[in-house]
Amino acid sequence: MNIGILGGGQLGWMTIIEGRKLGFNFYVLDKDPKAPASGVADRWFPPEKAEEFHRICDVITYEFEHIEEEILSKVEDKVVPNLTALELKQSRGEEKSFLYRNGYPVARFRRGKLGQLRELLKEVGLPAVVKSERLGYDGKGQYRVYEEGEVEGILSRHSKKESFVVEEFVDFQSEVSAVGVRDSEGRVKVFPLTENVHEEGILLYNRTAERLPYEREVVGIVSQLIEDLGIVGLLAVEFFVTKEGKVLINEFAPRPHNTGHYTLDGAYTSQFENLLRAITGLPLGSTKLKLPSGMVNILGMSKEELPTEEILKIEGTKVYWYGKTKKIRRKMGHVNVVSRSVSDMELKLDKLLRILYEREPTPS
Ligand code: AMP
Repeated sequence: MNIGILGGGQLGWMTIIEGRKLGFNFYVLDKDPKAPASGVADRWFPPEKAEEFHRICDVITYEFEHIEEEILSKVEDKVVPNLTALELKQSRGEEKSFLYRNGYPVARFRRGKLGQLRELLKEVGLPAVVKSERLGYDGKGQYRVYEEGEVEGILSRHSKKESFVVEEFVDFQSEVSAVGVRDSEGRVKVFPLTENVHEEGILLYNRTAERLPYEREVVGIVSQLIEDLGIVGLLAVEFFVTKEGKVLINEFAPRPHNTGHYTLDGAYTSQFENLLRAITGLPLGSTKLKLPSGMVNILGMSKEELPTEEILKIEGTKVYWYGKTKKIRRKMGHVNVVSRSVSDMELKLDKLLRILYEREPTPS
C-alpha cells in the first residue's frame, strides 16, 4: 500500500520508521528534500508535483496542519483524517469557538481584530494570553499580558488586519494530554495520559501519569471529540488542570503529537503505528502502557553538543535524532525513557533533565 504524507517533519519521519515494519511504501510531499521524512521516504515530491503525488498514493495523511490551500485542493479526496479538524486548525479562534459551541470545557476567551485588543482584554480581564489566530504553534504569536501598558508592544508588532484570541490566563496546577485513535468503523482507543511541562510555550518534557483523579473525564472528552470531528486516525488533546482540579481544553491536533512520543517505547503500539493501522483499515493495536515512561525534547542542540553517551548509559533510554539543522529552541530530537517502576523512571527523567539542561524537574 502506498501512503502519502503531507509534510516532511519529524512526525512524518517517525510514522515512516514505524510503518516500514508493516511493509508500507511512503511518499512525502514537502518543499524540502532534506526534511527528516523526505530523506527516509521511498520518494520525495515537491509541492509542484502534488498531482503526481496524489496519483501514486492510495491514502494520504498529514503531519502538520498548515497545508496550503493549493496543495490541499489537489489531494483532498484521499486525505485521512477528513478535513473538518484540519479546517478548524487553520484558526485558533475557529478551534476555540467550535469547542465552546459544542459544550467542551475551555478557558474564557474573546475573538477580534488587533484594534479591539484593549476592549477584548477588558472583557476577559488581566492577566490574559493574547494569541494570534493564525500560524500559532509552539508558543509562536503568543503574549502574556499582565498590565494594560503591555498592549502597545503587541500593537506595534502586528498588522491591523490580523485577528486574535484573547484568553484568560489559566493558573494551572498542571498540563496534561492524551492521544486518541479511531478506526473507520468508529472504534476508539485512548493512550494513557501524560503530564507535560512546557517552557516558553514549547514542550520540554512529559511523563505518563497513572491514576489521576480527572483521568476518566479526560478520556471521555478525547473519545467524544474524536467522534464529533469524525476523525479516522489520531487526535491529541491538550488540557490545563486548574488549581481546583477542573480540566479545560487548551487545543487539539488531528495528527501524531509530541506528547505521544513516549508510545514508541512505553506503549504496546505507538501512536504512529496506530495512525497507520487506522487509515489503512488494519485492527487498532493496544494503547495500553507497557512501562512507566518519560520523554525529554532535545531543543536547540547540534548532534555534537548532544551528550549521547551519557544519555545512553542510563538504562531504558532511547535517542531519536531528527537530523535537522540547528536553530535556537528548535526540536532537534527527543529522548524516551522507560522503567519498571514509576519512581525509577522519575529518577532517570531527572537525570536526563540535568544532563541535557542542567535543571531539576518541577515536582509532580
Ligand atoms: P499553545 O501554543 O496554545 O499550545 O500554548 C503553549 C503553552 O503556553 C501552553 O502549553 C501553556 O503552557 C501556555 N499557555 C497557553 N495558553 C495559556 C493560558 N490561557 N493560560 C496559561 N498558560 C497558557
